[in-house]
Amino acid sequence: MIPGEFNYFAPATLQEAISLLTEYRSGAKILAGGQSLIPAMRFRLAVPETLIDINNLTELQYIREEAGYLAIGAMTRESALEESPIVQQHYHLLADAARVIADPIVRNMATVGGNLAHSDPANDHPAVMLAYNAQIVTVGPNGTRAISIDNFFVDLFQNALAEDEILTEIRIPKPAANTSGAYVKMERKVSDYAISAVGAQLTFNGNTCTAARIGLTNVSSVPMRAKNAEQTIIGKTLTDDVIEAAGQAAAAECDPSPDLRGSIDYKRDITRVLTKRAIRAAIARMKA
Ligand SMILES: Cc1cc2nc3c(=O)[nH]c(=O)nc-3n(C[C@H](O)[C@H](O)[C@H](O)COP(=O)(O)OP(=O)(O)OC[C@H]3O[C@@H](n4cnc5c(N)ncnc54)[C@H](O)[C@@H]3O)c2cc1C
Repeated sequence: MIPGEFNYFAPATLQEAISLLTEYRSGAKILAGGQSLIPAMRFRLAVPETLIDINNLTELQYIREEAGYLAIGAMTRESALEESPIVQQHYHLLADAARVIADPIVRNMATVGGNLAHSDPANDHPAVMLAYNAQIVTVGPNGTRAISIDNFFVDLFQNALAEDEILTEIRIPKPAANTSGAYVKMERKVSDYAISAVGAQLTFNGNTCTAARIGLTNVSSVPMRAKNAEQTIIGKTLTDDVIEAAGQAAAAECDPSPDLRGSIDYKRDITRVLTKRAIRAAIARMKA
């Protein structure tokens, strides 16, 4: 189908983009990579009166280490994550996810900020950023604010961004010593959304797991952490039995819907298996 009519602006500065967003408010939508918004407009699931295209804001394309965190500009393309030496060497969970989001053609356009702003529980970055305990930075007419990822996703496709705010940066805390992570995804075919996927970021003191964050993809209506699974492993030596218990906890606490990707029981069991795999992959990386 052909999208409905809309006004189109391509601001040259962030300030101009915010002014336009303030002026057009709820009738306006930011256009980033367009890989979710344009299909939604073609199906008339989204009918914005005004599109504010932020592709000229190249200053929002960066991946750089700051004091204590990795800063990713919102307009950073997914493909840039795959090409980033910092990501590939030090942020393994993110590097894993970057390889399995959509396909190379989509990844050349889709942005990290758009993936999070869309707040689709089927998208991969929400679980990744929940596992990393990331912060979302936004800019609006009242200035800049940082939102904890734990408070960012509020409902299906809904987040804590105000109508007149733009997501500008994602901050991933620099991993503590003896910390490692992995993202494991099961998809029906390349370029598909996950049946389920699990991101695990674990910290160890010797053989004991001292901190854990586990994010789940596409098994709930709002991106979620598997908090019971996390509690199952924190303070423990990760034996086969403990890892199995974590998998079972994640399977029990997720809340998948049945669809073409599988039944509820199937998705729960895949989540159990992927939780175990993600934990084991993180442990293997710690030892490497
Ligand atoms: C064939 C195909 C397969 C896909 N498979 C996957 C997959 O496996 N995993 C996955 O995670 N994703 C997948 N996607 C989705 C893809 O990654 C999307 O592009 C992404 O979710 C949205 O990013 P975007 O930059 O394209 O945003 P857009 O489509 O431009 O925008 C999406 C939404 O976010 C808002 N928005 C965007 N940027 C900002 C910002 N900076 N501030 C405020 N609001 C903003 C827009 O207004 C819009 O509502 C797939 C897409 C396609 C077409």
